[in-house]
Amino acid sequence: MASIRIRNLVKRFGNVTVIPDLSLDIPDHEFVVLVGPSGCGKSTLLRILAGLESVNEGDVYIGEERVNTVPAAKRDIAMVFQDYALYPHMTVRQNMAFALEMRGMSKAEIEERVQKAAKLLHIDGLLDRRPKALSGGQRQRVAMGRAIVRDPKVFLFDEPLSNLDAKLRAQVRAEIKALSQQLRTTMVFVTHDQIEAMTMADRIVVMQSGVIQQVGSPEEVYEKPANMFVAGFIGSPS
Ligand code: ADP
Ligand code: MG
Repeated sequence: MASIRIRNLVKRFGNVTVIPDLSLDIPDHEFVVLVGPSGCGKSTLLRILAGLESVNEGDVYIGEERVNTVPAAKRDIAMVFQDYALYPHMTVRQNMAFALEMRGMSKAEIEERVQKAAKLLHIDGLLDRRPKALSGGQRQRVAMGRAIVRDPKVFLFDEPLSNLDAKLRAQVRAEIKALSQQLRTTMVFVTHDQIEAMTMADRIVVMQSGVIQQVGSPEEVYEKPANMFVAGFIGSPS
């Protein structure tokens, strides 16, 4: 488990500045929802935390470690995407075990971790199926299972519910929230959906054009929006 500290982060693509100067502290165990319109830099910020994107200026700390130049594989962070990218030729069990096998973990420990994560996510009856024999919601759970077995310090979610229908979305949303309370891991959850943000977050971070407009509890952001942008964004239907 770890806190996240971002200091004066600058990110450019070519000569386009996507994040001009961003600082943010996320305490250990917190469930933060990063919300903002499409193109505002949410995925870029997550990818920087995951080590999938470089930093132009500033510092990123995970726990006590400055991770600016630490490669993704060494960061102890798991990221769950909207497009789950499961391995189609592998069973659910194999999909979940793969990263652990790469680490050289013993078969017994791998099986134990897979079983535990599968129970937590209610997919323990599906371990021998292949992805094409699963529903969208089940695939999303397998993608989460793949992250959980790695026992990461930090979970990053990039719009993981976007491909699910409304009913399933509400269900998986509640499950992720319950999971965060069980695992007590630091989680950063990206969405452009205000409802998702309001119902899941310990704290909401509202972003516009790479700039944080407000950080606060759902109540604070809703009742005392820092500016017109936040008021308009949080107040409008998704
Ligand atoms: P969001 O996730 O909030 O929709 P992104 O972080 O994906 O936004 O994108 C932020 C901005 O950075 C957008 O203008 C996008 O076009 C640009 N961008 C993202 N990735 C790249 C890239 N690899 N090269 C150039 N521009 C990029
Ligand atoms: Mg995005």
